[in-house]
This record gives sequence, structure tokens and C-alpha cells, in this order.
Amino acid sequence: MAKLYFYYSSMNAGKSTALLQSSYNYRERGMHTLVLTPDVDDRHGIGKVTSRIGLESTATTFKSTDDLYQLIAGRTKEQPLNCVLVDEAQFLSKEQVFQLGEVTDELHIPVLAYGIRTDFQGEPFPGSKYLLAWADNLKELKAICFCGNKATMVIRLDQDGNAVTQGSQVEVGGNDRYVSMCRKHFKENYFRQTLVPQHQLPLSVVRGDRD
Ligand SMILES: [Zn+2]
Repeated sequence: MAKLYFYYSSMNAGKSTALLQSSYNYRERGMHTLVLTPDVDDRHGIGKVTSRIGLESTATTFKSTDDLYQLIAGRTKEQPLNCVLVDEAQFLSKEQVFQLGEVTDELHIPVLAYGIRTDFQGEPFPGSKYLLAWADNLKELKAICFCGNKATMVIRLDQDGNAVTQGSQVEVGGNDRYVSMCRKHFKENYFRQTLVPQHQLPLSVVRGDRD
């Protein structure tokens, strides 16, 4: 039975490397894969998945309004597909996660989605939220905090190294840096300006909704 897999992590855990390795493993055996990437991410140019260690592959881009079931079903008319791999899967819509489930259940093609679990405010990305809820298989890829512990969170730092606590979930370009940290160090940086002990703050305050 084909399954929907979600490989989740913070940043710099090697998600794209793992995706490209999996795709290669299929192709090495003469099978066909389809690599998808949302067009929200133009860091490396459209239609490409690039990993930090230098591997890369061409990819088919899609928009947040695209029906991925129709897109993938259309491709299978050109050639059989043995696996679909989705990079930056945190940017999928709820509908698209559902459509990927349909691809596994109706087209019987395994889908491997790779994405970041939470944004710079500690909130789940929509795509990741529904992949965590609906995928058959969840696998964590581990990144490391500067302290050596597993980095489960992503913090956004401005040019001065201060945590950014407000703004849109997706910002392509700009000078902010995204750094993976363990939850303890995420909190220490995110709440640095506050004088109240962190665990006493309601979430509405910590998200920057105050005043
Ligand atoms: Zn840490």
C-alpha cells in the first residue's frame, strides 16, 4: 500500500539532501520520480531543489491554488510514477495535503513530503499541521542547536541578532536570518525583551499582540 510520509524538522536538518537522496535511490533502479516545490521559495531559482551540501535537482513548481492530485494524475499519463517528493511542504495548503492523501490512496503512488514544523513564532505552518495530522508516517530529521541539543524550533533574527517576533509567516529575501534552536533557547531569545518569567506569559502576549 502506498503511503504519505512527512519528514519534518527545523531548518538545516538536511531535508533537501534527504529528498534528493530518496529520489536518486528510485531513479538508480530505473524508476520515475516527480519532485515538487512550491513557487513561494525563489531562493535558488524556480524549479530547483538545492541542498546545502551541493546536491540539486530540477523540480516542478506549483502554486498554493494548484490541485496537486490533478497535476500528479496528469503526469502519470506521460509516464508511470513510482514516487512523488515534495520540498518545502510547510507551504502546502490544507487542501493540497488532502490531495496528496488522494494520490497515495487512489493513484497508489507513495508521497514523501519534507517540511519545517513551526514558523519563527512557534506556530505550526498550515502544510505541516495537516501533514502531522494526516500522514501515514511521521519521521523527524534532526537539526542541532548551538548548545548541542536537538533544535526543534526556528527563530528569526534581525541584522542585530535580535529575535523578530512579528511579521508575516513567509518572507522571501530580506536580511533576517533563520536559525534552528532547541525550545529552551528559542524561548530565551524570543522573550528577551520581557521582564515577566516566560512561563507566566499567555500566548497572546508572547506572539506580540500586546498593546
Ligand atoms: Zn539550545
